[in-house]
Amino acid sequence: MCGIIGVSKHDEAAKVAFMGLYALQHRGEEAAGIASFDGKDIYITKNQGQVADAFDERSLASLKGYAAIGHSRYSTTGSSNIKNVQPFLAMHKGKPIAVAHNGNLTNTEELYLKLEEEGAIFQTTMDSEIFVHLLVRAKNGNLKDWMANALSQVEGAYSVVFLVGETIIGVRDPHGFRPLCLGKLNDGYILASESCALDLINAQFIRELEPGEMVVLQGDKLESHFLPTKGKARITQCIFENIYFARPDSNIFGDNVYEVRKRLGAQLAKEHPVKGADFVMAIPDSGNYAALGYAQELGIPLEVGMIRNHYIGRTFIQPSQFMRDFRVRVKLNPISAVLKGKKVIVVEDSIVRGTTSRSRIEVLRSAGAKEIHMRISCPPIKSPCFYGIDFPSKKELIASDHSVAQIAEFIKVDSLEYLSLKGMLDVMKSPGNTFCYACFTGEYPVKIPSNQSKYLLEGQKHINK
Ligand code: 5GP
Ligand code: MG
Repeated sequence: MCGIIGVSKHDEAAKVAFMGLYALQHRGEEAAGIASFDGKDIYITKNQGQVADAFDERSLASLKGYAAIGHSRYSTTGSSNIKNVQPFLAMHKGKPIAVAHNGNLTNTEELYLKLEEEGAIFQTTMDSEIFVHLLVRAKNGNLKDWMANALSQVEGAYSVVFLVGETIIGVRDPHGFRPLCLGKLNDGYILASESCALDLINAQFIRELEPGEMVVLQGDKLESHFLPTKGKARITQCIFENIYFARPDSNIFGDNVYEVRKRLGAQLAKEHPVKGADFVMAIPDSGNYAALGYAQELGIPLEVGMIRNHYIGRTFIQPSQFMRDFRVRVKLNPISAVLKGKKVIVVEDSIVRGTTSRSRIEVLRSAGAKEIHMRISCPPIKSPCFYGIDFPSKKELIASDHSVAQIAEFIKVDSLEYLSLKGMLDVMKSPGNTFCYACFTGEYPVKIPSNQSKYLLEGQKHINK
């Protein structure tokens, strides 16, 4: 996962990108970077850490120019490496090309083999670097034809922003896996993964890019084109963006995320009510909105049974199992006065490994909850994601080889129920067949890489085991 932003025609383009990245922090908090262009030179700063730590006053001041792109990176297992931080910058015929990418490509093996055969050398293990190699090879015509030619060779998930000289280009893959929206700020334009970034910088939301659309921004000019592959692919927007990943104050895939989550919760309540419960509570913060929808649907009070500690800091944001366990304990504290002797409905957005849920339930029990009925606002997650969500390997996904009853036993709840697949799709505003929900069904809309491939991306190596 990752957050991306592009800024065209602004006197302080890099500062605007920097502020926008704050609103995209949830999409990746491992590293951040910005590249900017002032008509003559390209400037770039990339660092590990959250946005607030990755830049300081000096580095921001050095990012001169009126066009910029930025990236916040979510490290998938094994790739916590400074060379893999984006934007990725290259020079070609005296012209800078920088790219920031969200999503995972699926035909990387084929592309690496072809490009290496032709003599390409790679500086990183990011699939995003492939874009640049394809771009400089697709020489005919103007920039938009280059782009279309290059992008028609890649498969999989990509929402991507390019800085080519002073031109900013934003593209959403023909399946529309990842979100990308367009906004207006003064004379220029903004591209951002989610609309909450536009809100923060006071930009006006114009619209989302369509799947397969390419927007070319040059100063105050905007052109929209479509990739030759548009329309040939089924639209498969990632439903997990709605369930968990995107921010609730964003509008993505034609809907408001907060409202989608509430509808998921309401649907869950219709499918799996609990009789005689004292109250509904969420596992904060991601479960809050589904819990609200659940409680409102049944007319049961919503209580806050645990409090989140917001001061954990970046020291703990590390993708290792030990740190993850610690984070679970440090993050949430139960309120005994609320829980003691109560029959509680606990609503959570999703269960991935089951380990976080298990430890949270244990904490609620130790605070005195008498009965715990857990409700999950999506179906059981059984298959890994090859399109950019950081799910673990199949064997670590608890629902891949445990029944719901076995999961209930593992996390030690009195009852456990999940939202049905049909129920989930029914509450989406766009029809269900415009979403990817392979993590629930194992039916992948775009061919996934074979586990024999030695060119698997860092993020794909572990899931294919
Ligand atoms: P589990 O009980 O499976 O260990 O953890 C479930 C929790 O993980 C839920 O609170 C859910 O919001 C959160 N979660 C869901 N998907 C992801 C993800 O892709 N990455 C991370 N870090 N957390 C996730
Ligand atoms: Mg959560």
